Amino acid sequence: MIKRILVTGGAGFLGSHLCERLLTDGHEVVCVDNYFTGSKKNITHLLRNPSFELIRHDVTFPLYIEVDEIYNLACPASPVHYQYDPVQTTKTSVHGAINMLGLAKRVKAKILQASTSEVYGDPEVHPQPESYWGRVNPIGIRSCYDEGKRCAETLFFDYHRQHHLEIKVARIFNTYGPRMHPNDGRVVSNFIVQALQGKDITIFGDGRQTRSFCYVDDLINGFVRLMNTDPEFIGPVNLGNPCEFTMIELANKIIELTDSKSKVTFKNLPQDDPKQRKPNIELAKEKLDWEPTVKLEDGLQKTIEYFKGVI
Ligand code: NAD
Ligand code: UDP
Ligand code: UDP
Repeated sequence: MIKRILVTGGAGFLGSHLCERLLTDGHEVVCVDNYFTGSKKNITHLLRNPSFELIRHDVTFPLYIEVDEIYNLACPASPVHYQYDPVQTTKTSVHGAINMLGLAKRVKAKILQASTSEVYGDPEVHPQPESYWGRVNPIGIRSCYDEGKRCAETLFFDYHRQHHLEIKVARIFNTYGPRMHPNDGRVVSNFIVQALQGKDITIFGDGRQTRSFCYVDDLINGFVRLMNTDPEFIGPVNLGNPCEFTMIELANKIIELTDSKSKVTFKNLPQDDPKQRKPNIELAKEKLDWEPTVKLEDGLQKTIEYFKGVI
């Protein structure tokens, strides 16, 4: 069945890939974005498609349109960007969620929230299962994002319980790929851009902190599978790749793949930077029949090719 699907944050990194995928599946897509971190360039190639519609809009303001499904992705995702205007970040997560839930309620649309592994904070449980409540600092520099996303999850579950909305909550772990912003500040884009430009690779802290990196195509596949699960399954469900690496390992891999002469330098570790992160994806395997298939090396290779073209 052809559906009309709203993607908020659709001009961003993940959003643009999602719009593309939904159009390929034959749906009509309405992309809403205020271009804070996203760019029209990410979706220019879709503008010729009559099933694609683009609206410049900030989700902290009400939006009245008619759709069947909503993927709520609007929110800056990189620490540099979400800390630039932290009050706006919280507003985007919280007011944005209220508006999109209000919209979903009025038009009886199914709605999926792009939540995050940051709801687990700096975790003492490793790897992180969905049942873990997390260890989040409520007043630190990451809190605007972490607590905003936690509150958005609360709103999703309360709209579900109180207003019987059909919701889906995905907790996304670090995802990378083409169309990440070159100055995004996230580790994969930073290291690749630095390696390609022969600049020092900036490792924060001692580089022994870990992350688990998922290639964008795998993640988008997980999104779509989650949206199409039975109504009883609402999540939250972890979506990410459980292959865990230290930042030193990541730097070395990127230097090797780019054949770069860059050296690594060590900078101060930002406040509240989680020491370890790795998803437990048993629930996604069971309920979505999903797991990532793209190996870090292959995904990095594609991402490197993309950055060669844009810098
Ligand atoms: P991104 O910054 O590329 O995309 C976010 C998009 O939202 C941008 O296009 C931006 O312009 C738009 N936006 C921001 N504030 C808005 C507002 N008030 N109104 C309308 N549009 C707004 O980041 P991304 O990596 O594509 O992340 C997309 C979503 O996935 C975010 O909600 C993020 O929190 C979540 N997420 C991403 C990752 C990851 O590793 N990429 C991990 C966890 C969660
Ligand atoms: N809203 C929206 N689009 C709609 C319906 C609602 O943006 O199509 C916004 C509306 O501005 C409201 C919010 O969503 O502030 C929450 O809506 P809800 O109906 O849950 O609450 P209420 O309108 O009763 O405050
Ligand atoms: N990081 C780094 N160098 C950089 C950017 C980030 O060492 O140039 C580290 C950062 O401190 C964190 C990890 O890489 O430990 C992942 O950072 P990112 O901002 O990509 O995402 P996070 O998972 O922290 O939200």
